[in-house]
Amino acid sequence: MQLSGQIKMMKTSLVEGQAYYDLSIGSDTVNMNALVGKQIEINFLGQISCSNCGNKMSKSFSQGYCFPCARSLARCDLCIMKPETCHHHLGTCREPEWGLENCFSSHVVYLANSSGPKVGITREKNVPGRWIDQGAISAIPILKVKSRLDSGRVETALKPFIADKTNWRKMLKNEVEIVDLVSKKTALLGEVEALTKELDAKWLDDAVVNIHYPVLKYPSKIVSLNLDKTPFISGTLEGIKGQYLLLDSGVINLRKYSSYHLEINI
Ligand SMILES: [Zn+2]
Repeated sequence: MQLSGQIKMMKTSLVEGQAYYDLSIGSDTVNMNALVGKQIEINFLGQISCSNCGNKMSKSFSQGYCFPCARSLARCDLCIMKPETCHHHLGTCREPEWGLENCFSSHVVYLANSSGPKVGITREKNVPGRWIDQGAISAIPILKVKSRLDSGRVETALKPFIADKTNWRKMLKNEVEIVDLVSKKTALLGEVEALTKELDAKWLDDAVVNIHYPVLKYPSKIVSLNLDKTPFISGTLEGIKGQYLLLDSGVINLRKYSSYHLEINI
């Protein structure tokens, strides 16, 4: 079967501990879990359209936007990556209305184990999707706060005690140490108790969520596939983790190619 069109990052869902992936391509949606173990071909058709304005572009910015949109949309601003630098209160938000709707809503501070324990933040409605996008094998929400800025302040306060980044190579090889996130959580909350009171943060007592990925075989060596350099790639799909397809010929971060027009043969 051949499908073609513009892609978006894979949509994820968690059902009874199992991660599921759907890829939107053109007007079709592909259940990617069903393709694990099968041969697939991916062909970049040489066209990229901005996921905001639809304009054709030769290079994608901020994972799917044209340069002008990447410069003018609040969702592409640096404060999205560094929430503690939210500048809405200064009146300089690129899209104040968007900011009110998206950044001044409940956010969750969580611990996840993707390549080792790390702290992260996300909008409450992005749980557990955010964890799957990062390839976490387990995660636990620790605090609920009222804004993205507050979540960033907690995350920053925790940085001296825990990592905030994933080593994606280790994540893909499944070289993940087993950690007790519950005791980690207790220790870390002790470090930021005063700040959580100041922010009126809600301490959460959710259980650890374990996530299983549709993977038959993890790569022992990471070979990165790049559609900009090699527009045609093929291989047996051995698994999916994070937003990566694990092919026997290499790994590809599909998120990087959001807004690309592809042809997929399955
Ligand atoms: Zn645009």
